[in-house]
Formats: sequence, structure tokens, C-alpha cells
Amino acid sequence: MKQVRFKRHNPRTHWVGDGFPVRSVFSYSDIASEISPFLLMDYASPTRFPPTDQRRGVGEHPHRGFETVTIVYEGEVEHRDSAGGGGTIGPDEVQWMTAASGLVHEEFHGRDYARKGGPFEMIQLWVNLPARLKMSSPSYQGITRDRIPSVQLGQEGGQVRVIAGEYEGNRGPALTRSPINLWDIRMTGPTRFTCRVPEGHTAALFVLNGSIRFPDGNRASEAELAVLDSSGNTMSFESDGPAKLLFLGGEPLNEPIIGYGPFVMNSPEEIQQAFIDYRSGKMGRFTS
Ligand code: MN
Repeated sequence: MKQVRFKRHNPRTHWVGDGFPVRSVFSYSDIASEISPFLLMDYASPTRFPPTDQRRGVGEHPHRGFETVTIVYEGEVEHRDSAGGGGTIGPDEVQWMTAASGLVHEEFHGRDYARKGGPFEMIQLWVNLPARLKMSSPSYQGITRDRIPSVQLGQEGGQVRVIAGEYEGNRGPALTRSPINLWDIRMTGPTRFTCRVPEGHTAALFVLNGSIRFPDGNRASEAELAVLDSSGNTMSFESDGPAKLLFLGGEPLNEPIIGYGPFVMNSPEEIQQAFIDYRSGKMGRFTS
């Protein structure tokens, strides 16, 4: 049975551009080697935006060496990148953007949502790429809600939506570059959740709302991340009531993590090269 190894919570919010008020739950400069292949997690907790005709978000910026995975719970996110990827995702949808060798992109609130305004809630994860794939071609997966299998949890206990990997034989739609399990768990009332997870893999639970209790007595509640032992192949916890959780699981890459700003590579030389390539336009540029 997996136990809680440590917890993370960040009460401080900072703005990414003018569209995303996020709490950085972890980043590659702190616990990335303990939570590989995940590099960073930003949580935009529920915020209400007034209607606007302006574009809210963050304009052209580069990435190299990893993937950005955006999960929208409320609101809409629009993305466009220099590799030709793009799209708008809404509630319960996911954007899986593989920056790999590099691109520039922009991330804004969806136009329709911005015009109407309303609640906004989102998570962005950065997922590391194995060294051998860091310089592969960029790609983009827009994952609509109808493609995400929803598995019932007992009698009215809730659902597990499988974004990536597998839960009880149900496969998620995301194409991943290393073994990853990413599950959107919704509990509708007090429920015990027990499942098998791969031995030796990273395992962590982020609580968006509600409160859960582990067999070792540890609790996690709103905006807390519980990082579990990688040993053991059974995960179990109970919710006190309705709860919304994100499970992060994956095979650790066990490769050096050297990051600076929007680039995460395996050596300082590769970071230097990323800056040179970005400045010389090799990651592309928008003309408008
Ligand atoms: Mn970005």
C-alpha cells in the first residue's frame, strides 16, 4: 500500500500573462527529480472573469524539450503554435502540446468564453521528454471530452476520466512519449478509492476540491498535492464528500534535468543552444 511521502501546497498566486492567475504547485527547479516525468504544475483555481472583447492570456513565447498539457475545468483556452498546431478547448477537455525540438506558441482565453465571461479553472502540467525525443518534431493533440473514457466508481461513487494511460482496462486517448497515467477523478460523495498502479512509477494526487484521507492517516485538501511512495502497487484513499482530483502517474525518466525559463534539457550546453536557436528564429515566429 502506497504511503504519502510528502505534500506540496503553494498559497501564492502569480499571473501568467493577464489570463492565468496560477499557483505553482511544483517546478523543475524544486522537486522534478522526485516526480519525474512531470516537470511543473500550475493550478489556476476558480476565478470569475468579466466579459471582454480584449484577448486575455499570454502572447508568443518559446518552449523546447518537453510537453505542455493543459486541462480545462471551466472556461476556454485557445492555443496556436509555430509548428501549425492549434485549437480551442473547453470544460473537461485537454490540450497535449509536444514542444520537443522547439516552437513558439500563444495561449489565450477562448474568444467565445472571453466575450461572455464567467468562471475559469485550469491546470497546466509540463511533462518531460526522454532525452532521445527532446529534439524530435513538435506535435499537437487536442483532446475533446467525448474521446475521454469515463469509468464509473462503484454505485454513484463518481467517475474516473482516463486522459492518458489506463485505468481498469480503459485506455485514455493521449499519445504519450513515456508511460504515463493521467486521470481526472470526480467523487460525488464519501467514497473509498482503491486501485492498482505500476510498481516503481511516480504517483501523486492533486486535490482541486474536497478532502481525502490516506490509510497512513495523512490528509490532503484543496490545492494540495500528495506525492506517494513509488514502491507498492496499490493506491488507496477515502474522500469525506464530493472531491475533484487529478492523479499523476508515470515511469521516472532518471535523466539529468537542466532547465531555464521555457526550456528543459539534459545539460547547460543544450540550454545555451536553445537560446541561440530561439533567437535566430529556428523555433519559428508569428508574423501576425
Ligand atoms: Mn507556454
